[in-house]
Amino acid sequence: LTLAERVSLIGPMDYRLLKFLYEKTATHDWIKLSQISDELGISKREILSSLSKLYDLRLVSKELVLGENAYRITFTGLNVISTKNLYVNKILNKLGIMIGTGKESEVYIGYNFDGDPIIVKYHKLGKSYRNYKKYREDTDSSWIRRTVHNAEKEYNALKCVKSNYGQVPSPLGSSLNAIAMEYIYGKELYKIEISDPESALNDILSTVRIAYKECNIIHGDLSEYNILYSLDSDRSYVIDWPQSTNIQNEEILLRDITNILYYFSKKYNIIKGVQETLNYVKG
Ligand code: ATP
Ligand code: MN
Ligand code: MN
Ligand code: MN
Repeated sequence: LTLAERVSLIGPMDYRLLKFLYEKTATHDWIKLSQISDELGISKREILSSLSKLYDLRLVSKELVLGENAYRITFTGLNVISTKNLYVNKILNKLGIMIGTGKESEVYIGYNFDGDPIIVKYHKLGKSYRNYKKYREDTDSSWIRRTVHNAEKEYNALKCVKSNYGQVPSPLGSSLNAIAMEYIYGKELYKIEISDPESALNDILSTVRIAYKECNIIHGDLSEYNILYSLDSDRSYVIDWPQSTNIQNEEILLRDITNILYYFSKKYNIIKGVQETLNYVKG
């Protein structure tokens, strides 16, 4: 089943249970059936019929805790709630196909209420999770919180940089681990040969400058893989902001700038000094 199909199969009781299980991730790894029943004031029988449906759809997982079935929400379950919220808030009218999956996200095309394509990016576990998992069992649900935190960070970065006229996709709305943004019809910089690299580098560096000076943030993963070149406007957009950090982290700014200048020097023979560029960004 696709994510859109799963969302369409969810009724009000299923949604209520999923939301409850999401809220419980703040304090619990697993919640027992009797506790769900007590806290929601709904009979076990009624809850169980919804839970077994959610389990079949892989939106919750299940474990035996002290002889009783206990539940927690899955990553797909989280995606279902956030999608439903985007529908309800009239940000998203229809979810389309998945166009990308990385270590940190699943990216979908969606359609707004005018029928125009938009992007919905669902965040997955943060980078640090892999190490974290080494010494914690997989029965820990704090990854959900980290994931939501990452999405919020990316959304706030897009909002600030965009409102200060930086070149990023316009943020359209967010819910939990999902963010909706403007669809940029184009290609990642590394895939193409562009005719005016000087102005592309200009777009990128002025966006880095706006992020630094107006939003007090550094992108943190700046490279030709995280630049979208619009085939409509020939402008370059800086994407993928969840790992952005505050401007105290000088060495990260240096690494971002070094990366992007190296790419333009190697591919287009544009030579720009690192120090001169740092001065421009901070000045
Ligand atoms: P990675 O694992 O490569 O770091 P990621 O999971 O961090 O990726 P992004 O880099 O934000 O996620 O997006 C992944 C891909 O999805 C992009 O390379 C691009 O192809 C597509 N994409 C993301 N945002 C947009 C957008 N606003 N418009 C068009 N395509 C987009
Ligand atoms: Mn990445
Ligand atoms: Mn990326
Ligand atoms: Mn990324």
